[in-house]
Amino acid sequence: MNIIFAPNELLNRHCRPNKTLNFNVLAEMFALMDLHKGMGLAAPQVGILERFFITSWGQVFVDPLVYPERQFGKEEGPEGCLSLPGQAFMVDRWRVVTVGGTRYSGLAAVVVQHELDHLDGILISERGKPFSGSLLESSPSTPQSA
Ligand SMILES: [Zn+2]
Repeated sequence: MNIIFAPNELLNRHCRPNKTLNFNVLAEMFALMDLHKGMGLAAPQVGILERFFITSWGQVFVDPLVYPERQFGKEEGPEGCLSLPGQAFMVDRWRVVTVGGTRYSGLAAVVVQHELDHLDGILISERGKPFSGSLLESSPSTPQSA
């Protein structure tokens, strides 16, 4: 299993509901995400065109339905992507989203929306504006890759 880099047609497909998720796939995905210090990793990033993703806080989202909490509005912030190494983009995201009855805010909300975009074939390079800050700088605005 390897991370697929853009441009690659597999990253621009609308994924189908999960069918093949199993423990071995998850274990490999978590190992890859940790190796590359990602905040999340979506199935299409490893060539599986199905609707699931994992996050750095150890959660697995399968066929997720993500509802924005519109009353909290949106916020723009820098993001990186494991499929776009060395690049960062300023992306507008909902501040709070709910998935499966759980509310996610802050960085977790950003990661969930970033990964959901992957399941719909959307990359941050299509959604945001290029951000000139370095991915390696340790500042409060350091972008997170997912
Ligand atoms: Zn990504």
